Amino acid sequence: MADIIDGKAIAEDVVAKVKTQTATLAEHGVTPGLAVVIVGEDPASQVYVASKSRRAKECGFHSVQHSLPAETSEDALVALVEELNADPAIHGILVQLPLPGHIDEARIIQTIDPDKDVDGFHFINVGRLGTGALDSAFVPCTPAGAMLMLERVRGRDLSGLSAVVIGRSNIVGKPMANLLLAANATVTVAHSRTKDLPALAATADILVAAVGRPEMVRGDWVKPGATVIDVGINRIPAPEKGEGKTRLVGDVAFAEAKERAGAITPVPGGVGPMTIAMLMANTLTSAFRTAGLEPPAF
Ligand code: NAD
Repeated sequence: MADIIDGKAIAEDVVAKVKTQTATLAEHGVTPGLAVVIVGEDPASQVYVASKSRRAKECGFHSVQHSLPAETSEDALVALVEELNADPAIHGILVQLPLPGHIDEARIIQTIDPDKDVDGFHFINVGRLGTGALDSAFVPCTPAGAMLMLERVRGRDLSGLSAVVIGRSNIVGKPMANLLLAANATVTVAHSRTKDLPALAATADILVAAVGRPEMVRGDWVKPGATVIDVGINRIPAPEKGEGKTRLVGDVAFAEAKERAGAITPVPGGVGPMTIAMLMANTLTSAFRTAGLEPPAF
């Protein structure tokens, strides 16, 4: 039976450290500033943005939220990002994705100052991560959080371990693979065109699922003793809870996988809570760098 890696508890540890370090920064006259920008009314995005702003306030940050109407033009959004780039009180800028169809997301992301790009999506940060320049990169929050969870089980050096990442998105799969590589794991990235995925997954000491398909990874895909990191968040019908009710599941069939894994992250309460905690950590890091101080390690 696997150990369950408690994402809520690890996220609280991260946030506690962010709060302490924010107090340290205050002695230097610096308050970390996070600006969150949302365009349109997407209900899921509204919930994410509200919790990001709330967490930032709780950490003692200067927290600013810009909620723009869905019909905002691309040029107006570029102008706002440029204004935030120039604002010395802002250390982190997050533009909530997805943006409405008439706005070119790539243009917006590339407009963000790379040194305020706390989501880690700008080419400069992707390049820093890809070349192993982790001291200057901003690492995307979800894979950064997944690595912290993995570290609790396997330590920082993954030499000799094989890792399989299922999913090759720019937000999760690819940065996760780069982080695992930087930690000396032997990494394979699998995706929708991979042949015989169950057999490949079963070779992994570290198995990361970032697909978006409910419970796709079955128990017999898991190598006995493996560490399983389930990034997936999928809402499925739960008629057992009542008519029209739903519940969240990961990309891994948890009940089966926990019988074989050495350690596993649950959904909910696994990688999910880590994402916002790492956003706070990245914003703090940015404020330390701007102040010319060495940022704390997380
Ligand atoms: P995405 O849709 O951008 O990418 C999915 C990847 O899965 C693709 O690379 C695709 O090739 C691969 N894939 C699809 N079907 C497959 C199959 N049958 N076999 C193997 N690979 C397959 O998704 P994403 O943004 O990377 O997100 C993945 C999951 O992680 C989603 O469930 C999402 O909700 C979740 N997520 C969670 C957090 C968090 O905070 N915990 C953050 C981001 C994403």
